[in-house]
Amino acid sequence: MPTAISQSRGLLHRTRNTPRRSLHSRTIANLGATPSVATVPSWTDNAIAAYPQSAEHEKHALQEELARPLSALAGSSIAAASVYVNLDGRFAQAKVGEHLFRLQHGALVLLRSCVHCELGQFESLPITGLSDLGYALSRWEPRCEHCAPEDLANWLEDE
Ligand SMILES: [Zn+2]
Repeated sequence: MPTAISQSRGLLHRTRNTPRRSLHSRTIANLGATPSVATVPSWTDNAIAAYPQSAEHEKHALQEELARPLSALAGSSIAAASVYVNLDGRFAQAKVGEHLFRLQHGALVLLRSCVHCELGQFESLPITGLSDLGYALSRWEPRCEHCAPEDLANWLEDE
């Protein structure tokens, strides 16, 4: 019996002390909060801390944004994971067969080198459907400035 009494006294003691202890720790927390006002992260710190998450999100979004129309154009599924993303340049790039595509600022373009010297990399007009792609693959003849047709070179010099 005495054991039971001492146990209940112990409980009573602990119960009575609990609010006082938490009050005390709250005081400490409040005291600790005062100097931390000076160390509140700046708006640039907040922006930098937010980046790693949004970088991952942006990468996946760009991969999806390119894989979706490319799959429709190619008639076969292009895996989003196979799309290369350059976050500094904010563009996504993928190869389908020998053809290189890029998505930048929401526009899908075909990348081709100069038809004459096969150097450089030129962006087609935005591709919104099969007909645009057909033009970019067949009629479009990207040329670097050294290989520009003579009449075009002369016209540019006259400007
Ligand atoms: Zn050329």
